[in-house]
Amino acid sequence: MRLKDKVAIVTGAASGIGRATATLFAEEGASVLLTDVNAVGGEEAAQAIRDKGGKAVFHKANVSQQVECEGVVKACVAAFGRVNTLVNNAGVFILRGVEATPEDWQAVMATNVFGYSYLMNFAAEEMRKQGGGTVVNVGSVSSVIAQTKRVTYNASKGAVLQMTRCAALDLSEDNIRVNCVCPGVIWTAEVERMAQEGGLTREEAGIEFGSRQIMKRAADSREVAYPILFLASEESSFCTGIALFVDGGWTAM
Ligand code: NAD
Repeated sequence: MRLKDKVAIVTGAASGIGRATATLFAEEGASVLLTDVNAVGGEEAAQAIRDKGGKAVFHKANVSQQVECEGVVKACVAAFGRVNTLVNNAGVFILRGVEATPEDWQAVMATNVFGYSYLMNFAAEEMRKQGGGTVVNVGSVSSVIAQTKRVTYNASKGAVLQMTRCAALDLSEDNIRVNCVCPGVIWTAEVERMAQEGGLTREEAGIEFGSRQIMKRAADSREVAYPILFLASEESSFCTGIALFVDGGWTAM
């Protein structure tokens, strides 16, 4: 029960890494406010947690909109009285080179970058009232490496890493720790879709997409949820501004 009596917000919680994180947090004793644009998946994820005896509420929001981010934090306080932890995970995979249009840029930055910042701001206001808190931002190996035709996505994930460091500095005086995880290939809907497009099984996709990972496989979302749990909990009490690479050894190569 590493998050006993804690209250957490998890964005992008309808599927993939966000859903696995919300589920694990509830198992570890947290009350969890799940949020996503996908209301059907989000409600289902929250219900599945409650069915197993966990505390969870779903609130629909588009995190690219500042006012909706404010609504997420308000909904969490209304449901559980406070905010101790924020997991900024909602993300869009807009993979374009320099041919990216203004619409591509607006879409990728609004969710992957602006939304993370808005939520850190509103959540920090509540964390201060509790004497501190933790933020875990979901970056990517793409935060630090070059990949073909990914100017947009990798720029947004690079920004997540730098936002993490700068926010760690700014929020330290409020006893708020800010860290990020940087996953490699994780078997979630987008990766599955790309595998299907290429006619690849999960095992084949792990080898193909993870060709630069030491561990040539696609990981389960839960294998990212555990490192997020570590950074959200007191176990990481001397970590702030770090990037924890959960990438099967990709960045070691
Ligand atoms: P996913 O598509 O399964 O989950 C993303 C969730 O975010 C979806 O439920 C989606 O509805 C939600 N979302 C998207 N835009 C939103 C918005 N504006 N407001 C609210 N919710 C929104 O994908 P995933 O693989 O679980 O990705 C989660 C995070 O992990 C993302 O930030 C992604 O960039 C990152 N990541 C994933 C991988 C991977 O291999 N899957 C690798 C590195 C990083």
